Amino acid sequence: MAAAPDTTPGSQAGSQAGPLGRDTAGLSDAAAALLALEQQYSSGVYPKREVVMVAGCEARLVDADGHSYIDCMAGHGVANCGHGHPVLTAALTAQVGRLVTCPESLPNDVRAEYQRRLLEVAPGDLDRVFLCNSGTEAIEAAFKFARLATGRSGLIATMRGFHGRTFGALSATWEKKYRGPFEPLVPGFGHVPYNKLDKLDAAVGDDTAGVIVEVVQGEGGVNPGEAEFLQGAQALCRERGAMFIVDEIQTGFGRTGRLFACEHHDLSPDILALGKAIGGGLPMGATLVGPRVAHLKPGLHGSTFGGNPLACAVATAVLDVLRDERLPERAAALGARAVARLSALDLPVIREVRGLGLMLAVDLRKRVTPLLGLLMQRGVLALPAGPTVLRLLPPLTIPEADLDRALTIIEETLREWADAPDTGDDP
Ligand code: PLP
Repeated sequence: MAAAPDTTPGSQAGSQAGPLGRDTAGLSDAAAALLALEQQYSSGVYPKREVVMVAGCEARLVDADGHSYIDCMAGHGVANCGHGHPVLTAALTAQVGRLVTCPESLPNDVRAEYQRRLLEVAPGDLDRVFLCNSGTEAIEAAFKFARLATGRSGLIATMRGFHGRTFGALSATWEKKYRGPFEPLVPGFGHVPYNKLDKLDAAVGDDTAGVIVEVVQGEGGVNPGEAEFLQGAQALCRERGAMFIVDEIQTGFGRTGRLFACEHHDLSPDILALGKAIGGGLPMGATLVGPRVAHLKPGLHGSTFGGNPLACAVATAVLDVLRDERLPERAAALGARAVARLSALDLPVIREVRGLGLMLAVDLRKRVTPLLGLLMQRGVLALPAGPTVLRLLPPLTIPEADLDRALTIIEETLREWADAPDTGDDP
């Protein structure tokens, strides 16, 4: 594929580059009108950036004014195979003309083969799949299955964990600002500190249906789980008859340098929740269960769109691309390089650099929101992970030159921004 011309904001002659000011002259009238249109009719629940994206290719997004951005958001960790991957495009277009919708009550060739392929590469001894349309739905199924399998109601999650925003998933999510406005939530949920096995040990009792963990907490700050905690949680669940539930919605499909982050610690979950990158950008989620999950009977759970052949066809192509392009290995190598480079920055504003594979974080001593705006003006799209953490989730296919350029822009911007006053809202 031909290299995209360098149209990152600020790279053109005449741009208004200032130490901390806008590098572009702002949106064109046409783009501003599109932004206003979206703002006018959108629900209002999303904080929106001042940009209108119209196209994507590899690790670049292009806005309505033709500026190209290095995408270190990847649709919040969805585009692991990049934007417009030809193998995914071919699978999508072929299946569109064949069969788009087919409920699970009617067996389907593409779904049957996809489930086999997914279980073939899944960690541990998972042997059945429930397909749905998002991460939060995969979590809802995980909790229902844990209650069914155990006949118990208690569910234990971790502080700073994030599992989604529907009522069950939200009850496991830690952050008060997501939970508070919607209380009362589902009864039976409790939280223990992440990476504190003794606290978990004290919390798992006779009524615990399941314990849910992320292998690396994503939204909560990119906090890697310790082997002792994760393996200990699994052992406690086995010992006490609870389900060990792993949420790999953000860490799955190569993101952390292994196909599944469970592989870093040899984890064998009873229930595994997947989403985000699973469908290459199509809405999709999956809940995988192992032999300890009994009592799943026809009619107990379901989804109209779940397991549709279109998503399954693209998800099969995602597995092909991850394997053929060795993307988990690529994520491990590029991620290690990025961590080394960011760690070498000698800046007091940086508290810590951490990450696993291409799930990267720079923990700052200031609120991150103004930095995200500056980076976007300079052509890099990045994410927060809590109030002070800059998070990078680039496509695993990102060309090395793009990653290097993004890191250079981040470094330069951090140097300039380091002494600016601490302003901005929490993301
Ligand atoms: N679990 C984790 C670890 C996540 O990061 C997310 C989303 O960010 C979810 C669950 C919810 O997924 P979705 O937004 O697709 O419902």
